[in-house]
Amino acid sequence: MITAIVGINWGDEGKGRMVDLLSGDYDIVSRYQGGNNAGHTVVNEKGKFILNLLPSGILRENTVNVMGNGMVIDIEHLVGEIGRLEEKGIKISERNLKISDKAIICMPYHKMLDILEEDRLGDAKFGSTRRGISPVYSDKYMKKGIRMGDLFESDEFLREKVKNIVEWKNLTVHDGYKAEALDPEEMFRWLRTYGDPLKKHITDTTYYLSDAIAHDKSIMFEAQLGALRDIDFGIYPYTSASSTIAAYAPIGAGIPFAKLDNIVGIIKAYSSCVGEGPFTCEFFGEEAAALRGAGQEFGAATGRPRRVGGFDVVASRYGVMVQGATELALTKLDILQDMDKIPVCVAYDIDGELTQEFPTGERLNRAKPVYEYFPGFKTDITGCRKMEDLPKEAVDYIRYIEEKMGCPVRYVSVGAERNQYIQLF
Ligand code: GDP
Repeated sequence: MITAIVGINWGDEGKGRMVDLLSGDYDIVSRYQGGNNAGHTVVNEKGKFILNLLPSGILRENTVNVMGNGMVIDIEHLVGEIGRLEEKGIKISERNLKISDKAIICMPYHKMLDILEEDRLGDAKFGSTRRGISPVYSDKYMKKGIRMGDLFESDEFLREKVKNIVEWKNLTVHDGYKAEALDPEEMFRWLRTYGDPLKKHITDTTYYLSDAIAHDKSIMFEAQLGALRDIDFGIYPYTSASSTIAAYAPIGAGIPFAKLDNIVGIIKAYSSCVGEGPFTCEFFGEEAAALRGAGQEFGAATGRPRRVGGFDVVASRYGVMVQGATELALTKLDILQDMDKIPVCVAYDIDGELTQEFPTGERLNRAKPVYEYFPGFKTDITGCRKMEDLPKEAVDYIRYIEEKMGCPVRYVSVGAERNQYIQLF
């Protein structure tokens, strides 16, 4: 069985929590895109964990975790993240963590360039997480990336490679931005310091995963960031630099020939969005502060307060479509439990015309939300474990989302703990 777990919205849908819940059914969990620019938060009996780079299956003893070729890896961050988990008693070895030899290393100068460019843009900034993700993906496509597999080469080879790339980088860093020139030897030493301890995990994940498929192992692909952050289909240019959608998962994990059996779309009972860019359903003022506080909407990686709004039918239906979701997991329903009435953005008004198709470019910037309200549940639902336990208003809301999305809701999450969910089928 090959499953992808993906975000339907702008990210932070609770993918980490759902992967943690469902990963028990899979032999392998693989990340296929992105870097440490986002964070999954997982709460289980061992504690609360923030995972930026490691697949969420790392918290289960018998799950093998794969970091695919589609990822960009800040090795200094990864060594730190592994260390923090080990301190809490999580065992990480070459058996349960495999890193693609084709994944690209996110270098200190990528982070530096990200910061230099965001600062240069000033008020027109993209809202980058400043972790170097766009610069490192640009280098990948410029064919100037350093791959994890390069760490196995001799010092002479790696030094020469780094020297050539740094020479080219200095044309931008030093001659362009007028920042201090990069020192190739320092970059080389950084690679050896943080790269060498990871060598035991580095392997050809294409052979590893194709062998796993041949032996009928089950695989789960774990996305970072939602459909609306996809480089092609998202709210460009306020997107991530990678492909977040399910169709890319087999490619980014290393097995482009694999077919997905099912695609679980994680969809949130309201909307949230980190950073800049169009966010049509956005709330402001007190309404926003109340929802942000109830949902604890602050970035896991950066601590930034997230923008929030009601459930957005237009954006979510588009997300379900581009992901090709076969089933949905509706998260954070409990966050709405104290609301008198539940806001839903049912259409966009663009220049006086109502539409339910998600627009792009300037049309999206001009879109205004059309809100309708559903009766609130006004009941604590965090203890509900069956549909019958839920108040009628909550059931109606779930059925409404199901109908509007044209996709069955299979899971409803009513709390952050592993067991706080309802399974519908
Ligand atoms: P991800 O990047 O999609 O995994 O999302 P985040 O980790 O950024 O945000 C999800 C947050 O919501 C985490 O703190 C989770 O523990 C929490 N969470 C997930 N599902 C639920 C839920 O159903 N109810 C509540 N109250 N919290 C949830």
